[in-house]
Amino acid sequence: MTLTNEALRDYACNVVEVDKIGVANIERFDAAPADMHPRNIMPEARSVVVFLKRILRGTCRGVDEGTHWPSYHIYSYTGLSRMLSVANYRLARFIEQHGFDATSLSPIATSREFGPAAPPPRPGMPPREVVLQHRIAATLAGLGEIGWSKVFLTPEFGPRQRLGVLLTTAELEPDPIVTGVLCDRCKRCVAECPAGAIDPDRSVAIEVEGHRIEWTDLDLGKCKLTHFGLNKQSGPFFARRFPGVRLAVAEQEVTWLEAWDLGWAMFPTMPALSTLATAPVAACGARGCIIGCMKHMEAEQRVENSFRTRPVFSAKPPWRLDDEPSHRFEDHKGLVYDPEAPETEQPPAREDDDWY
Ligand code: SF4
Ligand code: SF4
Repeated sequence: MTLTNEALRDYACNVVEVDKIGVANIERFDAAPADMHPRNIMPEARSVVVFLKRILRGTCRGVDEGTHWPSYHIYSYTGLSRMLSVANYRLARFIEQHGFDATSLSPIATSREFGPAAPPPRPGMPPREVVLQHRIAATLAGLGEIGWSKVFLTPEFGPRQRLGVLLTTAELEPDPIVTGVLCDRCKRCVAECPAGAIDPDRSVAIEVEGHRIEWTDLDLGKCKLTHFGLNKQSGPFFARRFPGVRLAVAEQEVTWLEAWDLGWAMFPTMPALSTLATAPVAACGARGCIIGCMKHMEAEQRVENSFRTRPVFSAKPPWRLDDEPSHRFEDHKGLVYDPEAPETEQPPAREDDDWY
């Protein structure tokens, strides 16, 4: 049975209900490093299929107001990843029903940062784990482009989507690559990232079929600390549990893996987050790279999925919490217990002390 782009797109958008789907031929990955090359997962792959589901705009609202975090995490992060996994399964099943192989890839593609987890399985092969960079794959499949922030942008939803990828032996028609039309390098993402993780100047770039694809050289450590809720300026969670710790995220020089490990270690100590999930949650809410960018692109009328709300959410400057330690040694005297010592006064309550 033949499989056409039209049949796959129709099934994907009308039955599986993904919002957009595109195809890259395998040749577009010729220059990919061995540990990111789709052929090192499926040697016979002829096409890379990439699809997306939109992040519902309303799930960004509570984070933008600084009052409600679970909605973004539950519906637009882990929830969306789960939906993409189901969509990926259904699309792979559809392709298999047409007699072609299909390999669904993980919706979370960051394991490259862990470093090689095992030696190469045989000479000439890269060590485990081979992972595709979803945003590069989406660009090569014609869905949109990587913005300066490193977040993937589309004409339909701006920065609001998450991606799914599968490989197939079906030789589908590649969609045209379109770059240089969505991100105008306004750098609002840089200004509004609460971690200072998005570098305004330093970049990473690749070139494919004459398209220069370039994005900021993101500080993954600072981003991950903030993403996991350890940035006191950007959430009350860590400050609530460790009011005396100074953790100026923008001054940290941690690797992604250090930040990951620290986030996992701290996560169980922050009840407001750990009641939401069993793994660290998306507590930044992507305030710079998604919310800031969304506001900019919508204001410029460069997002097709438009709304009547104007201005987009809060028109106020992004909120920041104080990241100074909220008590001092003079106030609490550490762990020394002196029964003769005069009773000390409790430090004054923070204005936001009833938060979580
Ligand atoms: S805010 Fe969006 S459009 Fe502006 S530079 Fe960043 S990624 Fe590009
Ligand atoms: S997720 Fe948050 S910390 Fe990371 S780049 Fe986006 S805005 Fe910055």
